[in-house]
Amino acid sequence: MAQTHTEKVIDVHHWSNTLFTIKTTRDPNLRFRNGEFTMVGMEVDGKPLLRAYSIASSNYEDHLEFYSIKVQDGPLTSKLQHIKVDDELLVSKKPTGTLLWDHMKPGKHLYLLGTGTGLAPFLSIIKDPEVYENFERVILVHGCRRVEELTYQALITKELGENEYFGEMVRSKLIYYPATTREDFKTQGRITALMESGKMTHDIGLPDFSIENDRFMLCGSVNMLKSTSELLDKMGFRETRKGEFNEYVVERAFVVR
Ligand SMILES: Cc1cc2nc3c(=O)[nH]c(=O)nc-3n(C[C@H](O)[C@H](O)[C@H](O)COP(=O)(O)OP(=O)(O)OC[C@H]3O[C@@H](n4cnc5c(N)ncnc54)[C@H](O)[C@@H]3O)c2cc1C
Repeated sequence: MAQTHTEKVIDVHHWSNTLFTIKTTRDPNLRFRNGEFTMVGMEVDGKPLLRAYSIASSNYEDHLEFYSIKVQDGPLTSKLQHIKVDDELLVSKKPTGTLLWDHMKPGKHLYLLGTGTGLAPFLSIIKDPEVYENFERVILVHGCRRVEELTYQALITKELGENEYFGEMVRSKLIYYPATTREDFKTQGRITALMESGKMTHDIGLPDFSIENDRFMLCGSVNMLKSTSELLDKMGFRETRKGEFNEYVVERAFVVR
C-alpha cells in the first residue's frame, strides 16, 4: 500500500524570495495532532523525493498547509518553489512528532518559541481551541533575521481574533512577540537573550519565568534548540522525555545535510 496520499495544490503564496506557503486538499483519512510533522514532496526523476514538514494547518481544517523555505540548490525546494495550483503534492500518511502541548505538566503560560520556518507547527497550535482552554496565556515568539521573514502577521494579529468560534479566547489569551536579529525592528535580539535579560516577560507584561507556571515548546535550528534548551535547563526547567512529562518539548525545524 502506498505510504503517501497524492494531494492537489489549491493555493501557493510566495512571501519572499526565500519563503512560501502551499495549501492542498486533505485526504479525509489523514489524522494528525496539532504540532506534528509529516513527509511531503513530489516525484523527481520518477521517484518520490520527500522531506519532513510541520503541518501548519489545524487538524480540524479541510485543507493542509505547509510553510516552506526555498533552498536554491536544495534537492526538494529548488523544485517545490515552482509548484502551482492544480499540481500534485505527495503527503505521507503517518504524521508524527514531539511538539504536543499536552505532553508537558499542566501550566498557566504556554510559550511557543520558533525561529524561521519553525513557526509552522505553532500556526496549527494557535488555531487549536483546546490550547486556549488549557492555558491562561499563549505567547507566540517568532524570531527571524529580517523583518520580511516575520510572516503570517495578518493571521496572527487579526484573522484569528475574528474567528467566530474561538476569536474571543484568542483576543484575551494570545500574545504575539516577533523579534529580529539582523534588522532594525521594535524588538531586536535572539530569543535566548530576550529571555535571559528579562526583556521578553517585561515587554509582554507577564511575571518572570517560573517552573510552576511556564511551559515551552521549541522549534528551530539545531543551534537555536541547543542554546534555548541549555538556558531552560539552567533555569531549572526539564525537557519531556519518553513517559515523563516535564516543562518543555522540542522539535528540529530542519536538519543540516
Ligand atoms: C521535523 C522537521 C520538520 C520540518 N519542517 C519544515 C517546515 O515546516 N518547513 C520547511 O521549510 N522545512 C522544514 N523542515 C526541513 C525540510 O525537511 C527540508 O530540509 C527543506 O524542505 C529543504 O529541503 P531540500 O531538499 O530543498 O534541501 P535539504 O537538502 O533538505 O536542505 C539543504 C540545507 O538547507 C538548510 N535548510 C533546510 N531546511 C531549512 C529551513 N526550514 N530553514 C532554514 N534552513 C533550512 C539546511 O542547512 C540544509 O542543510 C523540517 C525538518 C524536520 C527534521
